[in-house]
Amino acid sequence: MEAEEMRRLGHRVVDIVVDRLINRAGEPAILTGEADELLAQLGGPIPNQPLDPEESLRLLAEVAFTHQQRGDHPRYFARVPGPSSFGAILGDWLGTGFNAITASWAGGSGPATLELVVIDWLRQLLGLPSDYEGVLVSGGSHASLTAFAAVQAQRGTGTVYLTDQTHSSLPRALKVLGFSESQIHILPSDEQFRMPVQALREAIAGHRRAGARPLMVIGTAGTTNTGTVDPLPELAAICEAEELWLHVDAAYGGPGCLSASGREDLKGIELAHSLVLDPHKWLFQPYDAGCLLIRPGMLERSFDMNPEYLRDVTAGTGEVDFRNRGLELTRRTRAAKLWLSLRTYGVERFREAIDHGLNLAREAQKYLAANPRRWEIIVPAQLGIVCFALRGAGDDEHEERVRLLSESGYACISSTRLKGKTVFRLCTINPLTSTDDLEGTIDRLAALS
Ligand code: PLP
Repeated sequence: MEAEEMRRLGHRVVDIVVDRLINRAGEPAILTGEADELLAQLGGPIPNQPLDPEESLRLLAEVAFTHQQRGDHPRYFARVPGPSSFGAILGDWLGTGFNAITASWAGGSGPATLELVVIDWLRQLLGLPSDYEGVLVSGGSHASLTAFAAVQAQRGTGTVYLTDQTHSSLPRALKVLGFSESQIHILPSDEQFRMPVQALREAIAGHRRAGARPLMVIGTAGTTNTGTVDPLPELAAICEAEELWLHVDAAYGGPGCLSASGREDLKGIELAHSLVLDPHKWLFQPYDAGCLLIRPGMLERSFDMNPEYLRDVTAGTGEVDFRNRGLELTRRTRAAKLWLSLRTYGVERFREAIDHGLNLAREAQKYLAANPRRWEIIVPAQLGIVCFALRGAGDDEHEERVRLLSESGYACISSTRLKGKTVFRLCTINPLTSTDDLEGTIDRLAALS
């Protein structure tokens, strides 16, 4: 492709994206396609000869990327929204344009410095000890897998304690690493969906008596279902007394630390031995941004890999080869988007955006509570999530209303199951969401049938 055509198409891409961002509220919050129709438009034989790039760009923008959940739509409240910011998108684009690599220090000292800087900024925002190290990975699933692989490598195997509210990617990571079913001890959560501290103590003592070896406790700082925070100070005290590893999954809730009220809810998060947060959730980054923060030395001791052909690019003192902090060798820059957006907006702007999300969930709760004959609050607002039910409606009707709302395109919310009952769940972390968006969504949910 000639330089001038590259420039022209590049500008076209910027226009497409900016137009999409400014017009997104008028688009559906989710659009699911028919498999046959999508394949007919996007598939076909492998192109042996060049095809018109304009038409291919159109197919990407108008077909492939329109048929999806719009995680950054102001009325997208389902699962975990992904309201990424333009500053972050620009950082990602630039990193891709430079094909920036963050594998070895010598082969990518600039991108490695960005990653070191960003990891330390994230560490400070969460209040973890200054000697903690980190690595950026694709997301929460990979970050917890990396943490568990390091704990297993350094401390051996043993029983791991979690709850029925722990995100399913964590027990999956343990299984992948060879932990047996009896080593993955799932405690039923308490009435407030928290890890029950006394039951945890009893389980540890029982396992020790039976000759098993307790290894790690997993706390969640913002569960996906309800935004609940496990009793982290108590879990940390148990881990200290029992010499267990404390892993905290703050993939969703971690950024709540930027807000004064969120920080209060998340107290004890700083006591984690390893902690996961997902900037592609509540720190407004495009997808492919997870972060693991962990006690120093754990990663390099576990993942160090220096074959002959990489001897020329092996870090010296004070330098970091990020290939040795995880399971990836060739690694793109995930730090550029965080670095650019934190500099562009500043932490105060992030703080306001997070406060806005926290307030919206409280507003939703208030709006629902004002109509108690129609709505039942199942779990009050916590870290930007509220769960509720329609009085007199069964599981199927809840699922059906979620489906109809999505089909209408106006908004998208989730259903989930809590204590055996299907309920509605709103996750309100998009800074662009207004009170009208929220109330309009709740009103339509009531009106559907
Ligand atoms: N942990 C929690 C609490 C989550 O909410 C999620 C995803 O929603 C994950 C882990 C997994 O993160 P990812 O989808 O980035 O792999």
